[in-house]
Amino acid sequence: MIPYGKQDIRPEDIEAVVEVLKSDFLTQGPVVGNFETAVAANTEASCAVACNSATSALHIAVSALGLGPGDVLWTSPISFVASANVARFNGADVDFVDIDPGTFNMCPDKLADKLEVADAANKLPKIIMPVHMCGQSPDMSQIKALADRYGIFVVEDASHAIGAAYDGHPVGSCRHSDICVFSFHPVKIITTGEGGIATTNDQNLADRMRRIHTHGITRDEALMAGETHGPWYYQQLELGWNYRMTELQAALGLSQLHRLSEYVDRRNMLAEAYDAKLAGLPLDLPDRLAGSRSSWHLYVVQLLEAADRRRVFEGLRARGIGVNIHYIPIHSQPYYKALGFADGDFPASEDYYSRAISIPVHPGMTEADQTAVIDALEAELS
Ligand SMILES: *Cc1c(COP(=O)(O)O)cnc(C)c1O
Repeated sequence: MIPYGKQDIRPEDIEAVVEVLKSDFLTQGPVVGNFETAVAANTEASCAVACNSATSALHIAVSALGLGPGDVLWTSPISFVASANVARFNGADVDFVDIDPGTFNMCPDKLADKLEVADAANKLPKIIMPVHMCGQSPDMSQIKALADRYGIFVVEDASHAIGAAYDGHPVGSCRHSDICVFSFHPVKIITTGEGGIATTNDQNLADRMRRIHTHGITRDEALMAGETHGPWYYQQLELGWNYRMTELQAALGLSQLHRLSEYVDRRNMLAEAYDAKLAGLPLDLPDRLAGSRSSWHLYVVQLLEAADRRRVFEGLRARGIGVNIHYIPIHSQPYYKALGFADGDFPASEDYYSRAISIPVHPGMTEADQTAVIDALEAELS
């Protein structure tokens, strides 16, 4: 089976992890800080806070922005459930903005319309969370301009998009957001096993995220209530979690980060070959947003008829092509339906889902692998 995504682990990655195993610190040592510094430099952000998953990083992001009961977070229905769940962790409400059918990202025009309605009803969201679906940036300058007009925070779920660029700058530079989050799950662009990171240019937000990701505890005397008891002393200032990344994970991430541009270049080559070689088939291929460069975490084709999707999906699997579907619209999950969402609420997302298939794209794919994927699609669609 040619998988839709797969990590690439090289001898130097293994050596880096083994070095940590032989060192004094498996957690809370120097390597996590080095990884944070390297990711910040790579994305042109001033601060980065590493976590044990992107879900944790999204959670500290919305928590540091004060999201709580009575607040609302808006995200895209076409994402992994974690984008919405982190708001629910804090007792906040979730709503969605439908996608642009060509890019599968939050549609700025639909956002503008929905904000106008919400403003009139005095129900504006506290946070908008656009998702970089497949590794391509949403139209962040439009989204940020709208958010600024209404005084709303922006957190980018760029789980798919480390190594991508928008407007001439790396995704993660937070030029159009308060915080940006990447995932290092093995199917993503680079991996730490499990892991994620939040970047920001706001030192106060970074400090607060760092505190929340370690139990809400500080060792900074300047922040403490009353006098320190001595060098051992810490205080818990607010409620937090243990979301720390380990040294082993950071060592793997740091080693992988050296190959980020190689990986993204290779994924772009594969995507361009798909664009060219699938153009003659009865498929809708993904649109490119002008001024952006995708990291191509996913390559999603859409069948013309939803009725064919299951047959084609099963046919491709039977031919050894490890296709997958990203994503089932979040609002259609039973958990979210129980909160009041219904089929039909976000038609572009539902139409996208009904026709989408993610075909394999990852740096270890050979030309022969890609040809096998294309041949299998041709056979299934003929
Ligand atoms: C993978 C992913 C997440 C969650 O990442 P984890 O590191 O697995 O917690 C969140 N959002 C999106 C869009 C993702 O693809």
